Amino acid sequence: MPDLRFSSQPPVHTEIPRAKRAEGQWSLGYTEPLNKNEQSKKDDDPLNVRDRILHIYSKRGFDSIDPADLRGRFRWMGLYTQRAPGFDGGKTAMLEEEELDDKYFMLRVRSDGRLLSPDAVRALGSIGVDFARDTADVTDRENIQYHWIRVEDVPEIWRRLDEAGLSSLEACGDSPRPFLGSPVAGVAADEIIDGSSALEEIFDRYIGDPAFSNLPRKFKTALTGHPSHDVSPETNDVAFVGTVHPEHGPGFDLWVGGGLSTNPMLAQKLGVWIPLDEVPDAWAAVASVFRDYGYRRLRSRARLKFLVADWGVAKFREVMEKEYLGRELVSNPSPPSPVGHRDHVGVHDQKDGRKYVGLAPVVGRVSGTLLAALAGVMDEFGVEGARLTPYQKIVLIGVEPDRVAPLLDRLDEIGLSARPSQWRRNTMACTGIEFCKLAIVDTKNRARDLVAELERRFPDLDVPITVNVNGCPNACARTQVADIGLKGQLVMSEGQQVEGFQVHLGGATGLQANFGRKLRAHKVTSAGLDDYVTTVVTNFLTDRDGDEDFATWVAR
Ligand code: SF4
Repeated sequence: MPDLRFSSQPPVHTEIPRAKRAEGQWSLGYTEPLNKNEQSKKDDDPLNVRDRILHIYSKRGFDSIDPADLRGRFRWMGLYTQRAPGFDGGKTAMLEEEELDDKYFMLRVRSDGRLLSPDAVRALGSIGVDFARDTADVTDRENIQYHWIRVEDVPEIWRRLDEAGLSSLEACGDSPRPFLGSPVAGVAADEIIDGSSALEEIFDRYIGDPAFSNLPRKFKTALTGHPSHDVSPETNDVAFVGTVHPEHGPGFDLWVGGGLSTNPMLAQKLGVWIPLDEVPDAWAAVASVFRDYGYRRLRSRARLKFLVADWGVAKFREVMEKEYLGRELVSNPSPPSPVGHRDHVGVHDQKDGRKYVGLAPVVGRVSGTLLAALAGVMDEFGVEGARLTPYQKIVLIGVEPDRVAPLLDRLDEIGLSARPSQWRRNTMACTGIEFCKLAIVDTKNRARDLVAELERRFPDLDVPITVNVNGCPNACARTQVADIGLKGQLVMSEGQQVEGFQVHLGGATGLQANFGRKLRAHKVTSAGLDDYVTTVVTNFLTDRDGDEDFATWVAR
C-alpha cells in the first residue's frame, strides 16, 4: 500500500491535458497563489496559528492578533470572528466582511460522530456557561457551536475539550471539516456495519496533518452504516454509505462531490465497494485528488463538486486508483437505497436489548446550562452516552428499557423532548444574523417562532414536512433539500427592503433525493412567513392524494 501521507509539496502530473482555462490546479503546475486565500495559506501553514493563540494572542488580547491570522488562519482552529451587533441585513450588503468583525469569536467544536460521555456533555456545558454567555448550539454537522468567546479564554477552553476527548482543530477553514458519523453507530438493531473505527482512524491520521491542511476549500466527510443513510451523504464532498456486497459482504459504497450553496450537486456514486479497514486510505485518496486537482483560482469554483462535474465519476475513480491507491477498487453492482426516517427522534431498539432515545431541541438551540442539566439526567438514569446528529438533534445511547418512561418525562421537564411535534422535529435553522457575518436575515429566533405558530395552527399534522431556514445563499442548513427551503435575502415590501426569504419547494434527500424547486415568485417577508407556510401546507393537505408526501405533491 503506498503511503498517502504526502508532503504538501504539489505534485506535477503531466499525463492530464492542460485545462483550456487555468483553474489554478496544483497538479497542472499552478503553484503560484492566484488569490489572497491561496497566498495566505502559502505564507504560513494555518496549523501554525495554534501556538500563536496559546502563547501570544491569548496573553496580549484581541488587538495583538495579526489580521492575516484573525481573518484567515484562526478558522483552522475552529475560531471565526462573530458579527458585531447593530448591523442589519441591509447594512451588511454595503460592508466588507471585515467591517462586521466583533472582538468575540464563534468557536466550533467537532464531535465527529463520537459517543459523548456524561462528563464530556458536562464539560461542553461548562464551557458555554463559563466562557460563552451560556450559548451552545447543536449544528447540523454534529458540532457544538459557541458564541461570545474571548481569545484570552481559548487555552482553558482547549484544555477542557482535550480532557473530554474533543477538539476544535480544523473545524473551519480549507481543511477536512468535522465528520458526520451515524449517531447510532455500533448500537442500532438494524445497522448494516459499524464504521466508527474508520472515522476515528481518519481523525487520528489526518486531522492536523499538514498534508491536508491546505485544500482548495472546505472538505466535508460523512460515513454511516445505518440503512436510513442518517448522515445526509448526498450533500457531502466524500461519503461512505453502508452496503452489502453480494460477494464480499458488508462495507461501504463511496460517493463524491456533494455540496449545496450555489451550483448545488448531489454526491455522485463512484460504483465501488470499500471494506471497513480500507476506508481511511480511500478517504485520503479522495482528499488528495481534491488537494492536487481541485480548482484554486476562483473561490466560487473551489469545491470538489466542480471537479467531479467536469471529470465524471469514471475518470475520478481512475485517477484515485492509478495515482493514489496503486490498485483497482472493487466494483459495487448494487448501490444502497435508504430505508426509513433519518433523525432517530423517539425511542428505538439497540442490538444489545437496550434503547436509544432521540431528542429534539428547537432548531438546535441549546445552552451551556441545558447541556449541564442533560449530563445530570444522563447520570441519574444511567445513560451511557450521547451523540449529536446532522439534523440538529441529540441521541442518548444505552438506556435500560425499564427507565425509558421516567427518562422521557424528565427530559420534557428540562426542555429536550423525545416526543416533539412534527414541526419541532423537522425544522432546522442556521446561525443567521445574530452571529454570522454573512447573514442577511435572522434565522434561529424566526424559526423558533415559526415552529410555535405552526404547532398552534396544525397541531395534528400527520406527515413530516421539513422546513430549513437559512440566513443567506450559503445553505448551511441545507436550503435545497427541504420540503420548504428558505434562503435569506432582502425582499421588497411596500417600497422598502426588508428581511425575507426566497422559497424552494419540494427538496429531499434519501430515496427521492432532489433539489427543491426555486419558485421565483415565491419570495416572502420574514414577517409574512407564518402565513405563507400556512397557505402552502393547507393547499398540500387539501390537495394531496391519499398518503402522498409533500415532495411528491410539489413535483406533480
Ligand atoms: Fe451564515 Fe449563511 Fe451559513 Fe446561515 S447559511 S450560517 S447566514 S453563512
